[in-house]
Amino acid sequence: MGDRVEHVVISGGGIAGTALALALRTAGIGATVVESRPADHGEGAIVRLNPNGMDALRAVGAHQAVIARSFPLVRSERVRADGTRVGYALGADPSSDRGLPRVMHWPVLSAVLRELAVERGAQFRHGHRVVFVDVTAPSVVLDDGSAVEGDVLVGADGTHSTVRSRIAPDGPVPERLGTRTVYGYAAEPACEPPPPEVLRSYVGAKRFFAATRDSHSGGCFWFTSLRARGRPPTTDELRAELAELFGGDGTIAPIVIGNSERVLSFDDHALPHLPRWCTERAIVIGDALHVAPPASEQGAAMAVEDGVQLARCLRDHATPAQAFAAFERLRRDRVEAVVALGMTGTSRAHSPLARHLRGLRTQAKRLVQWQRTPPMGGGWVYDHHIDWPATTS
Ligand SMILES: Cc1cc2nc3c(=O)[nH]c(=O)nc-3n(C[C@H](O)[C@H](O)[C@H](O)COP(=O)(O)OP(=O)(O)OC[C@H]3O[C@@H](n4cnc5c(N)ncnc54)[C@H](O)[C@@H]3O)c2cc1C
Repeated sequence: MGDRVEHVVISGGGIAGTALALALRTAGIGATVVESRPADHGEGAIVRLNPNGMDALRAVGAHQAVIARSFPLVRSERVRADGTRVGYALGADPSSDRGLPRVMHWPVLSAVLRELAVERGAQFRHGHRVVFVDVTAPSVVLDDGSAVEGDVLVGADGTHSTVRSRIAPDGPVPERLGTRTVYGYAAEPACEPPPPEVLRSYVGAKRFFAATRDSHSGGCFWFTSLRARGRPPTTDELRAELAELFGGDGTIAPIVIGNSERVLSFDDHALPHLPRWCTERAIVIGDALHVAPPASEQGAAMAVEDGVQLARCLRDHATPAQAFAAFERLRRDRVEAVVALGMTGTSRAHSPLARHLRGLRTQAKRLVQWQRTPPMGGGWVYDHHIDWPATTS
């Protein structure tokens, strides 16, 4: 007996909201996703889904579809402009059965998850912004005046979540880290990008420039990090700043950037701890709940884990409040530990001294590690496993 959840309204159809809709349908629960962007917006660039995210997708039978549209990351390496390799790491432990990180175009990941969710019966309302949130009723009002109601409301509406601000009006908001991650894509980069299995980070005179080839399109994905100042830059301002930073540093960066049809950037934030995750009938997941700095490379994987774990909890518990309590028990320690780990690698400022010290520390660590075994990404973060049939109650 109870108040079992039959239908969930989800504000935000990025990665967390879409993964949740897919997992809810897999559990036999109804889902309606409201997403302000149109389905075919095409924004986004390279996204890395680490083995823990792939494990979560395997739990709901969605990993093969992602494998078919992505490529594996075997290793990352750092090279100087003259081609000297100054560091490398394996994408994951080769002896682990978790597999390798997968790399793909962000809109491809969101489309694959959405297609599967729709196939399993989820409803999507694209191109509609949520303008009012009721965390008690629970329901949302869209910009066309229509309303969507559910037994529970899930805020998967990203870093600047409206749902979070209603659940925890006095709670912390994501902190700006002072950096801006810039992503780009060049269909025809006019030079030879690194092969798809290698993410190569070129050590430029002022900044790093990381690139790899998309094995599906043959184009070049890349990203770098800039100082964030004031308002977000326009695309022209971004291009001008990149040209100034990378011009003449002897790497492939200026050629690739100059030939990129897509350049976009996000202000980096961190939200390490949110005391209140839910009301009786509303909860937040993904970047709305925890924001890890981009260096953690866990944004997408944690969003997928959240979606799948919340669906299991809603499937297994008689009331939303019990399901949310189970979700928090399963997730709080992990998400806070992952964000904390990511924070240790952030350059809160690009100060020359901080950069220099970091460089020395990293080089010393690498030299020691190379004597033994190559460094590997992952460890406890990648080793997370979701047992879909097992009960969470
Ligand atoms: C368009 C886009 C492109 C991205 N590209 C990359 C990339 O190339 N590489 C990378 O590493 N990360 C990228 N990210 C970030 C990455 O997806 C997230 O950091 C991580 O996956 C967590 O996902 P999320 O679903 O919690 O949040 P998000 O991915 O931020 O998704 C939140 C969603 O909620 C929607 N939304 C917010 N407010 C409302 C509202 N009021 N009404 C309706 N909808 C709303 C947004 O449009 C968005 O689609 C991108 C995010 C977006 C939105």
